[in-house]
Amino acid sequence: MGLSDYLVRNHRRVVFFTGAGMSAESGVPTYRGKGGIWKQYDYESYACQPAFEADPARVWEFHNYRRKLVGACKPNPGHELIARAEAASHGVTVVTQNIDGLHQLAGSRNVHELHGSLWRLRCEKCGRRAESRDAPLLDPHCSCGAWWRPAIVWFGDALDGEVIDAAMRAIVSCDLLISIGTSAVVYPAAQMPLYARKAGAKLVEVNPEPTPMSASYDLCVRESASECLARLCEGI
Ligand code: NAD
Ligand code: ZN
Repeated sequence: MGLSDYLVRNHRRVVFFTGAGMSAESGVPTYRGKGGIWKQYDYESYACQPAFEADPARVWEFHNYRRKLVGACKPNPGHELIARAEAASHGVTVVTQNIDGLHQLAGSRNVHELHGSLWRLRCEKCGRRAESRDAPLLDPHCSCGAWWRPAIVWFGDALDGEVIDAAMRAIVSCDLLISIGTSAVVYPAAQMPLYARKAGAKLVEVNPEPTPMSASYDLCVRESASECLARLCEGI
């Protein structure tokens, strides 16, 4: 089967399963690979609960740096094609590992963020929640005085059960799953697309490089996200 057998317009329920490579063309640094942010920062000091508890100011400085970098980025043509496919009623769901909010900025509504969002905050003292795109965050404190905790799934955190359930419902009921720009090494996200395959969906991997999951895909396209999406979303 060639790429023409995987066109979005010929399917009824499509899941776009995205990772950092989806936003690479928007200028958001990926996690691994060239320019990966963890090469510059030791994650144990910046992106985990013990670091936040030990030194919230330091963790906030790092997150404000990320908010500033990501806040200057715009959705790329790939994000826009996915949003257009949703608007054109192709039963589209986005399941993303990204925390940048670029799918929503492009107009996607049906988005499940497995790893949370750089733009949402929660207070672990009083339970308040907030959302802010200020970069840097103007006041990193909740009105109760505690530090806002970025609502991101950090290293060592469990994923949100409700988000996983919603994502899995879409995954097991789709007829086409297109994985884009994920290195497929972060669990449990890495194995989620396999449930679509078990349920009978076709699977496409879009990534310039092979991944440990490539062999489980029906079709692997070694192209950039926007290049391949332009072909997969042809006619929409
Ligand atoms: P990753 O950085 O581990 O892997 C990125 C993958 O994208 C690589 O396999 C690479 O070959 C591929 N890629 C690079 N450029 C591409 C392009 N133009 N088109 C298509 N693919 C391209 O990313 P991951 O698998 O998402 O795991 C990283 C973790 O870090 C996630 O948990 C995520 O929450 C977090 N993260 C998020 C962002 C973001 O929000 N944009 C950025 C970095 C990291
Ligand atoms: Zn509070």
